[in-house]
Amino acid sequence: MVRPYLFIGLFVATNCTLALLYPFSWTRFLIFVALYGLGTGIMLYLLFNPTNDWLVTNRSHVESATEVALTFDDGPDPVDTPRLLDLLRQKGIKATFFVVGRRADEHPEIVRRAWEEGHLIANHTWSHQPLFCFLPPWRLRQEIERGTESIRRACGRRPRYFRSPVGLRHPFLRPYLEQAGLTFVSWRLRSRDTHIRNAQRLAERIVNNAHGGDIILLHDHRPDGARAMLEALPGVIDKLRARGFEFVLAGSRGEAECEQR
Ligand SMILES: [Zn+2]
Repeated sequence: MVRPYLFIGLFVATNCTLALLYPFSWTRFLIFVALYGLGTGIMLYLLFNPTNDWLVTNRSHVESATEVALTFDDGPDPVDTPRLLDLLRQKGIKATFFVVGRRADEHPEIVRRAWEEGHLIANHTWSHQPLFCFLPPWRLRQEIERGTESIRRACGRRPRYFRSPVGLRHPFLRPYLEQAGLTFVSWRLRSRDTHIRNAQRLAERIVNNAHGGDIILLHDHRPDGARAMLEALPGVIDKLRARGFEFVLAGSRGEAECEQR
């Protein structure tokens, strides 16, 4: 519980360097730029880097070098998630869905279907706040708890895994996740399917950059639709299978990790 306060201390100290600007001199200005840049750089690294686990213990890969895990964020989507589930069923693949609680409340039948078809359902907060790392502590706790409750209502089990919006950390995330019984999961391969709208380019990026053990970040809900991802995925699955990879969940569905309703 020391690290949240060390992080806040770093934030305060970085901003205190503004005092160096008065009285102004070029030497003091250059010292300010160096210190402010250093402090800001360290904070951004701790908040944004998907594999860093200083602020919160972080699962960014699966154990075996012959396995990869597909993870889908931001759903359920009433159109694209059922299409994705059809595709995964055709290919005989299980994946991990990080669902947004308020969307799970709107489409609980899709979340339930995904769970019943053997996929793993995980908490992606209740409302997917883009400035997650700046939430006041009471909102952070609320986002986590409401996300968990939405999943419990939809599929009858509390989730055991959590991913924040854009994988952002928060100084108080570790203690809140521990209280909620959640493990933070990030990724090692970001597909960039939120930016790449060409299916062939998207498929090439994933296939060319995939390594054994990767947790792969994809999205089954996009404001403009997940068409490129859905078009790219069959070829990606076939090519990664041809390289000897098996597809696994990013965590366990085991009874020991899920609490019955
Ligand atoms: Zn997201």
